[in-house]
Amino acid sequence: MNIILVSNSMARTRSIPLPLGLLVIGLLSALPALLLWVLIVPQGTHQHKGAPASMHFASAGEQAHIDALAQQLGEIEAKVLRLDALGARLSSLAGVKASDADALPPGRGGPMVDARTMSEDELKQRIQALTQSIDLNSDKLSVLEASLLQQRLKASTLPSTMPTDVAYNSSSYGWRVDPFSGKVAFHEGLDFVADSGTPVYASAAGVVTAAEQTPDYGRIVKINHGSGLETRYAHASQLLVKAGERVERGQLIARVGSTGRSTGAHLHFEVRLNGAALDPRKYLQSAN
Ligand SMILES: [Zn+2]
Repeated sequence: MNIILVSNSMARTRSIPLPLGLLVIGLLSALPALLLWVLIVPQGTHQHKGAPASMHFASAGEQAHIDALAQQLGEIEAKVLRLDALGARLSSLAGVKASDADALPPGRGGPMVDARTMSEDELKQRIQALTQSIDLNSDKLSVLEASLLQQRLKASTLPSTMPTDVAYNSSSYGWRVDPFSGKVAFHEGLDFVADSGTPVYASAAGVVTAAEQTPDYGRIVKINHGSGLETRYAHASQLLVKAGERVERGQLIARVGSTGRSTGAHLHFEVRLNGAALDPRKYLQSAN
């Protein structure tokens, strides 16, 4: 049995086998509410266009509300885009053919609610519920992705060894306020706060593809583990390997520092599959 997923915003369809479909369908059932927002926010700001001068215009206070809601909407849209990318990767891991999906007719509308009958409190509640639902589904999908990957790859190539001997900051991966811009952004790595000079180890065996300095990551080591899997170790004070070098699981490769875009000494650790950031916690946990 297959479940056909229809992405309203992009008019694309995918066919995903159960139980993947069951997880994703919960998320997509929330999409009509999101689309509703896409529609009503611009309406709210332009509904008086062309109206007589005597008509009511939004006060500064109302405008601030609309701006705040629009910002929340932008954050939700960014989350949905990431989920869309995660869904595409899961389809690929599950072996779903793109041609099957392309043959299906696009765009099926869900039930719509009349936006004008909703109070501002109701609207806020719906945004909050939608945000929580997306967060929950993101986590479920990440777990599923890790499980699919673990089944597919050899245990030796999975980045399951802790890259340092200190505990990680569990809330560091995911959506958070960026300490530099002050805006909500997706933080694609796991941060390990440790003293400068603390040893950094390869999380799995592989080949070093870069040991260099960049403006954002500072001194960074990138290791290719095969099958599109890569780990990154950033903000180092010292690099102890070179590009092209083969490394073993647990090998000392660098030392913790605060180079690049960093607010203090820590290791920024990323796990990427074909360039897309994965949740490192799902892989490190598998070692226990
Ligand atoms: Zn970081």
